[in-house]
Amino acid sequence: MSDSDEPGEARLDGNAAGALLAEVFRCEPSMARAVCSGCGAIAPVGALWAYGLEMGAILRCPVCDTAIIRVGAAGTAIVVDLRGAVSVRFEVVP
Ligand SMILES: [Zn+2]
Repeated sequence: MSDSDEPGEARLDGNAAGALLAEVFRCEPSMARAVCSGCGAIAPVGALWAYGLEMGAILRCPVCDTAIIRVGAAGTAIVVDLRGAVSVRFEVVP
């Protein structure tokens, strides 16, 4: 079975989403709204609780304490782990 959800839908590589993803990373991250995978609460990233800022940050849900976002520096890279979020909504400002 293909990874495609719809019969006959063309499958492209990730480069096809490059422009859309670039828009996400131009957005103000503290205004993005995260949906917690632990309890379903919706909160702006700026309202999450931040821990461990010396080596990066773990942003936790203010309702249930689930680690929603982990971000840290790894050499020349910045690694973002969003597995604690059901989704993160970024508002694109024209
Ligand atoms: Zn939660």
